[in-house]
Amino acid sequence: MNVIVVAAECAPWSKTGGLGDVAGSLPKALARRGHRVMVVAPRYGNYAEPQDIGVRKRYKVDGQDIEVTYFQTYIDGVDFVFIESPLFRHIEGDIYGGSRLDILKRMMLFCKAAVEVPWYVPCGGVCYGDGNLVFIANDWHTALLPVYLKAYYRDNGLMEFTRSILVIHNIAHQGRGPVDDFLHVDLPGHYIDLFKLHDPVGGEHFNIFAAGLKAADRVVTVSHGYSWELKTSEGGWGLHNIIKENDWKFSGIVNGIDTKEWNPLFDVHLTSDGYTNYSLETLHTGKPQCKAALQKELGLPVQPDVPLIGFIGRLDQQKGVDLIAEAVPWMMDQNVQLVMLGTGRQDLEKMLRQFENQYHDKIRGWVGFSVKMAHRITAGSDILLMPSRFEPCGLNQLYAMMYGTVPVVHAVGGLRDTVQPFDPFHESGLGWTFDCAEASKLIHALGNCLWTYREYKNSWEGLQRRGMTQDLSWDHAAEKYEEVLVAAKYQW
Ligand code: ADP
Repeated sequence: MNVIVVAAECAPWSKTGGLGDVAGSLPKALARRGHRVMVVAPRYGNYAEPQDIGVRKRYKVDGQDIEVTYFQTYIDGVDFVFIESPLFRHIEGDIYGGSRLDILKRMMLFCKAAVEVPWYVPCGGVCYGDGNLVFIANDWHTALLPVYLKAYYRDNGLMEFTRSILVIHNIAHQGRGPVDDFLHVDLPGHYIDLFKLHDPVGGEHFNIFAAGLKAADRVVTVSHGYSWELKTSEGGWGLHNIIKENDWKFSGIVNGIDTKEWNPLFDVHLTSDGYTNYSLETLHTGKPQCKAALQKELGLPVQPDVPLIGFIGRLDQQKGVDLIAEAVPWMMDQNVQLVMLGTGRQDLEKMLRQFENQYHDKIRGWVGFSVKMAHRITAGSDILLMPSRFEPCGLNQLYAMMYGTVPVVHAVGGLRDTVQPFDPFHESGLGWTFDCAEASKLIHALGNCLWTYREYKNSWEGLQRRGMTQDLSWDHAAEKYEEVLVAAKYQW
C-alpha cells in the first residue's frame, strides 16, 4: 500500500513527546513490511537532510494566501516530506504555542497542504498519487485532514478510493473553540454538524477532534487500556459518546519503540562522560557504570547501593508530578536518590528546583528538554516512576524496561497494558503498579519495590532480565496497523 503518515511533530527533527517518536519510527516499520511510506510534518527549523525540491503551492488560510515549499529526504526506506511556510518558521521551541487561532491556522494550512502531497511531491521521481493510498493522521492537530479529504475530494468524486485513519495519542487536547471558529476552516456550510459538540461544561462548541473522528474511515488509539477508557465519561473528555458510536471502526494498538535509538547496546548518548553501552550480558558491569556516571554528572554522591529513582516527562497534571511531590518527604527518609527531568507548568518547574535546593545531596530537578539526559537517566536509574493520572500508551516505561530499569507505574491506559505487576511467588512480572492516583498508593508500591531492590537481588535481576528480553519493537505493532490499513481500504 501507499501510506502517508501526517503528524505535527516527527523525531528526531521535532519532538515534544511520544507523538514525535511514533511518527519517526512506525513508518519505518511499515516500510519494512513492504509498503511505500511517507511522513509529512511541518518544517519548524533548518533540518540537515531534507532538501528543497522546488515545488511551491499556495493555500488560502482565513482569507490569506500563503505559500508553502516542500522539502524531502529518504531515510531507512521512508520518504520524509517537510512543509515549509512562514507560519511554521522559528517555532521549534514552542510548536503548539500561540493563540488558539494561530494554532488553528497553522494546522489548517498543514492539513490542506498535506492532503495534496500525493499529487505534487515527487519522491524518487514519482508522486504517490491516489492509487492504494491511506493517510494516517495523528491527534487533533491533523484531524482536519480526513475532513478535507472528504470535503475537497471524495464528495466531488475524486480520490474515491483513498482512505484515512485517525490515531488518538491523547484525547485531552481537542482543538476546541466557539462555534464561530467554523468560519475559519474553509468548508461547505453543512459540514458544521461534524464539528458541533455539546459539552456539559462549555455548552455547544466547535471541536476539531470530533469532526476528525467522524470523518476518518478507521480510528486507532495507542493501547488497549486507553481504548477502553476513552469510552467512559471520565476518560473520553467529552468525546466518549462519539467514540462509542464509532466503536465499529475503533482499535487499540500498543506503540512499539525504536530499538535502534533506544537500545543500551547502541545508545549514542552512552559513549562518553563515563557512561558505557551495555546489554543483558554486560548488565552487571555496564549499568552500575552508567549509574555512577549519572550520579557524577548530576553532582550527586556516587553511591552504588543507594537506589536511584528517575522521572522523565512533561510537568503537568497528567503525569502525576504532584503525587511524586507528596511522596518526596517519605522518599527522603528511605536513603534514595531522585532525579526528575521535565518541562511544562511553571509552578511545577519551580517545585523541581526547590526540591533540588532543599535536598541537595539527594534530589536533582533538571528543568529542560534534553534527549541526551533522557537516555542517560533511563540507563543510570534503577527505578523509573510514572504515576500518570492517565497515560494513553507511555513510552518511558518501555524504554526503561529495555535498559534494565524497573518501572513503578499507576495502572492506567498503556501503563497497565505494558507493566505486568511483579509476582514474588511465581517470579513473574515486570514492575510495580498501583491502582489509584494517590501518593499513599505510590508510596506503598515504591516501598515494596525498594524492599525487593535491597533484599532480594535475584528477584530484582529477574525483573531486569524479563524487561530487557521483551520484544518491544515496532514490528508487532506495524503488523496490527497493517490490519487496520487493510480494513480501512477494503472492509465496508
Ligand atoms: P507524552 O507523549 O504524553 O509526553 P510519552 O511517554 O508517550 O509521553 O512520551 C514522552 C517522550 O518524550 C519520551 O520519548 C520521553 O523520553 C520524551 N521526553 C519527555 N520529556 C522530556 C524531557 N524533558 N527531555 C527529553 N525528553 C523528554
